[in-house]
Amino acid sequence: MRIVLVGPPGAGKGTQAQYLAKNLSIPHISTGDLFRSNISQGTALGRKAQEYTSSGRLVPDEVTIAMAKDRLEEADAAEGFLLDGFPRNLGQAEALDAYLRDKEVTLDGVLDLEVPEDEVVKRIAGRRLCRKDGAHVYHVSYNPPKTEGVCDVCGGELYQRDDDTEDKVRVRLEVYHSETEPIIDYYKAQDLVVTISALGTVDEVTRRAMEALGAAESV
Ligand SMILES: [Zn+2]
Repeated sequence: MRIVLVGPPGAGKGTQAQYLAKNLSIPHISTGDLFRSNISQGTALGRKAQEYTSSGRLVPDEVTIAMAKDRLEEADAAEGFLLDGFPRNLGQAEALDAYLRDKEVTLDGVLDLEVPEDEVVKRIAGRRLCRKDGAHVYHVSYNPPKTEGVCDVCGGELYQRDDDTEDKVRVRLEVYHSETEPIIDYYKAQDLVVTISALGTVDEVTRRAMEALGAAESV
């Protein structure tokens, strides 16, 4: 299956992408991983991306598109993939379509994770990370530490990322509305979009997603 996952920040895309990719036996290709691996391997694209990010500028679409295409050329993506974070705007969606047309394949679906705006703000603004180990993640309401401000696992101090404040989340949502949402209409015109609610437990959302993709029986 060839799938694109879309949804606002805070929808749990990364988590769902991992489970769905595993259930469907396809690689999970996230923009974050593309950047990290290109930069850590010092590829030409990685160096170019770094020039932009280190000066606080947005990486141009052509660099992101080239990284995505390189990744899609790898053997494990030949029979399917789940894209997470790409395409993030209309230009990228059109480039992906052109690439797939060239390969004479098509997307099977675009899974749209829907979350009410206030829930997005609550989810992100309540997030707390451990200073010692960023993998230790908490939420003030949904997953609070035993002692406020202290990591249960390693005793590290918990903090809120600069990007996770309510004001910043609202800005990220605006960017999502203006840049990414248009790709949903673009894919709707191709009859590819399935929208599901991203509320509930991780398992519930995964099950809903698998059903929506008509792939529940292959689990
Ligand atoms: Zn910790």
